[in-house]
Amino acid sequence: MKKARELRWGETPFDRMSHEDLLIHAKRMFLALTSLHSVVSQHKVSDEHFNKLNLPYWSNDGMGGKALNLSKRTLGKIKRGYNSDNIYRMFFRYAKDVLFEPDENASRWQVCDHCKMFLGTTDTACCFCKNRLRKLTMADLMNEPSS
Ligand SMILES: [Zn+2]
Repeated sequence: MKKARELRWGETPFDRMSHEDLLIHAKRMFLALTSLHSVVSQHKVSDEHFNKLNLPYWSNDGMGGKALNLSKRTLGKIKRGYNSDNIYRMFFRYAKDVLFEPDENASRWQVCDHCKMFLGTTDTACCFCKNRLRKLTMADLMNEPSS
């Protein structure tokens, strides 16, 4: 991906990305947006509860209010058809391991194809059947919309 300062008129950072790289980039942005929405929402609730102030920061023209409204508007369209449990499992619990390099010494989600289970572990073998675990892939995270 080209850096912003290297771009010429009419170019975007995404012009030369493969379909797979573009998809992973979009998923990273979704994860970041979901995290931003969660943090900003908690911050607003905390401000209203503890400070009892009507701060301009949270108005529709304030930075907090704008960030909250834009993230809510963007996520609203994406969340349609999925419940919060689907989203939690997909993006916070598993997709993070696929999209970002893991922290050193942290356990990762791995898959046992024999038991059909995801296991959060640093082990290389399944604790139930002793089969070799494989890395989680994006294909494992495909989800069905909730009914
Ligand atoms: Zn197993």
